[in-house]
Amino acid sequence: MSVGKDVITYLAENDWLNENAKRWGTKIGARAITAGTTMTELTPVVQKLNYAGLSTTIVYLGDGLYEKAGALDVKEQYLDLIHLIQEKALDATVTLQLTQLGLDIDFDFCYENVKEIVSEAYNYGVQVTIEMEDYGHVQPSFLMLEQLKEEYDNVGTVIQAYFYRAEEDIKKYKDVPIRLVKGAYDEPISVAYQTKEEIYTNYKKLLFEQLQNGIFTSIATHDQEIIAEVKQFVQQREIPLDAFEFQFLYGFDQQLQEQLVGEGYACSVYVPYGEEWYSYFMNRLAERPQNITKKVFNKKTN
Ligand code: FAD
Repeated sequence: MSVGKDVITYLAENDWLNENAKRWGTKIGARAITAGTTMTELTPVVQKLNYAGLSTTIVYLGDGLYEKAGALDVKEQYLDLIHLIQEKALDATVTLQLTQLGLDIDFDFCYENVKEIVSEAYNYGVQVTIEMEDYGHVQPSFLMLEQLKEEYDNVGTVIQAYFYRAEEDIKKYKDVPIRLVKGAYDEPISVAYQTKEEIYTNYKKLLFEQLQNGIFTSIATHDQEIIAEVKQFVQQREIPLDAFEFQFLYGFDQQLQEQLVGEGYACSVYVPYGEEWYSYFMNRLAERPQNITKKVFNKKTN
């Protein structure tokens, strides 16, 4: 089965489908890559991953919000999530999207929401990652990180290797845990590398510098060439295996995750849950249709 990327992207952004998908529950194969819509459904998924030796970072799904009430609901959801992590002794951190917490409404309003979450997480020993969105949100997200890290040491962020600014940013934020990704949004040539080769080269350059300098890094990529090169790099330089982790999206490359854990590497899984699963599911489908169509039509295939 082959579906055009543009068609899938159009369907992902369709308001009617997004709204109705909430009523359907995680059907049409979405359950294979999300942990359901509620914390009750989420808990056994995380426990199963933990049991297999994988840590997790949990994300409450949703798009950017423009009304304060919605952003406050998301904040409450994260506070409940932190309590759940503590009560059930889950091996889990949380990942936040700032536009869900009001970044497009008002910086200070968003900051207060995020600070409450980070502070509660700090009290319970839970790590928080501030996810990076499109270029327009990058600078305010770093500003928020800077303010938070003055008071809390349980907050880290994401560096997107396709941005020219990534090299400067990664050096500037060497005192916080970093998740290194290639970058998921369509960005213009004025701010970002465009070709696979350029992005791959910059990703490896930034990553190897991090590893060499002993800065804990979450290596968030499904690129098996990079994973193989990391293994070689750390073996040759005797870099300790607890100095980094591999990070994967839930539901993808499960065999590889198990293999890496078996070899002694730390692996963490990005576990999304929540009622707003539809656009996440469709966007993953747009990125890599073959993976999800396999999951939908042949559940036994990884
Ligand atoms: P690509 O460069 O797309 O492809 C390289 C190889 O990997 C190809 O062979 C491809 O077929 C294979 N591959 C790609 N995807 C998959 C898959 N899902 N399953 C199996 N094989 C695959 N982006 C942001 O902009 N901000 C974020 O905060 C962010 N957080 C992320 C967190 C995690 C845990 C991960 C894994 C990604 C995150 N991303 C984020 C997305 C990231 O920026 C890339 O868009 C995405 O990971 C694709 O790049 P890649 O290196 O994994 O693979």
